[in-house]
Amino acid sequence: MNIKKYYNIGKKELFPICRSLTGSGTLKTLKIIKKKFPKIKIKSIKSGTKAFDWKVPPEWNVVDAFVLDKNKNKIIDFKINNLHLVGYSLPINKYIKKKELLDHLHSIPKLPDAIPYVTSYYKKYWGFCVDDKTKAKIKKKYKDDEKFFSKIETSYDPNGKLNYGELIIKGKSSREIIISTYICHPSMANDNLSGTIVAMGLIDYFQKQNLKKTMRFIFVPETIGSIAYLSKNLKKLKDNTVGGYNLTCIGDEGGHSCLLSKYEDSPSDRSLIETYKKLNIKYKKYSFLQRGSDERQYNSPGIDLPITSIFRSKYGEYKEYHTSMDNFKLVTAKGINGGFKVAKEAIKILQNKIIPQNKILCEPQMGKRGLYPTLSKNSRPENIKNFMNFLQYSDGKNDLDTISLILNIKKKEALKIYRILKKSKIIS
Ligand code: ZN
Repeated sequence: MNIKKYYNIGKKELFPICRSLTGSGTLKTLKIIKKKFPKIKIKSIKSGTKAFDWKVPPEWNVVDAFVLDKNKNKIIDFKINNLHLVGYSLPINKYIKKKELLDHLHSIPKLPDAIPYVTSYYKKYWGFCVDDKTKAKIKKKYKDDEKFFSKIETSYDPNGKLNYGELIIKGKSSREIIISTYICHPSMANDNLSGTIVAMGLIDYFQKQNLKKTMRFIFVPETIGSIAYLSKNLKKLKDNTVGGYNLTCIGDEGGHSCLLSKYEDSPSDRSLIETYKKLNIKYKKYSFLQRGSDERQYNSPGIDLPITSIFRSKYGEYKEYHTSMDNFKLVTAKGINGGFKVAKEAIKILQNKIIPQNKILCEPQMGKRGLYPTLSKNSRPENIKNFMNFLQYSDGKNDLDTISLILNIKKKEALKIYRILKKSKIIS
């Protein structure tokens, strides 16, 4: 499998599309993914649907947005770069004074060549984004009483929908690994087309394998998308998930980094750390306190899905982040390949981990299964103690290596206990 193929789809087909939480750009993105992977299901949730403490927003679409000076020169043009329009901007169609224009004009003085990425999803607002050089030019060139014709042709449909994609690759077991990435950012590469590109590479690779565990790929708009997805699928996910990865900012050539699940002790955390060691990769581990993407939702109390995030340069930690400089000069085929290799290996290790799950609440009655001395006057043999200890940690959160470490027994011994308990249908 050559990841370059998906890199090119990202660069040529996906990059120019204006995406947001909702709207035609996100749907178009999913349809391009579906051309390569017809098994992906494109699903939708209606605007206004409640999802825990949130509501799915109205569907937002853009036709055009620009600003003209009095000589009809287009000084800002959405069609040149979709970052020029603040995401979820209200429609306007009017002459405005220079001051009002400047008040609604966003730039980054520290990065004078970069157009910032700004959104206002939940507060009604309109605005434009430009590089700081352009803003300075507007300030200098035009008189204070100059008027500008500003047009933003956007629509809000309260009866619209939010689209997301879901692809399941069945394994021998119904236990699942979640791979989540987001599809709501307009023309930017590392944050987060890199996640979609790597996810496509992973689907290509794993759909050709004989899998032990089932894999669930999710392409959602960030935050509201994962919250809505969780609110619809929580029970199923809680019953089956052993762990998984959120893919974001995974395609530049910066160092490798990660953000482990909340308690940093899940099988997906361990698989990722084992991967870095195996591939001889130096990595930086960020604290869960520095989280910012959908790992926030998966690891929330009551959701408790231990999802780990894999990055090259983490969001917020590189200068091009959330600007027009986050493009396919920053994200290279080499960078993507590095991120892909780490994610692929971590999933392979997680696929092979034995993660015992109890099937019975409280201690099972071992005697009736022939696993316990029936006369209580005998002291418990050491072996039985190991069985009972093994069961205590068979809560679906620990793999066999971890359990043998906690119990201070050899892995071979742990495997023996696992097989007996599984045969007796006490664990799965
Ligand atoms: Zn972002």
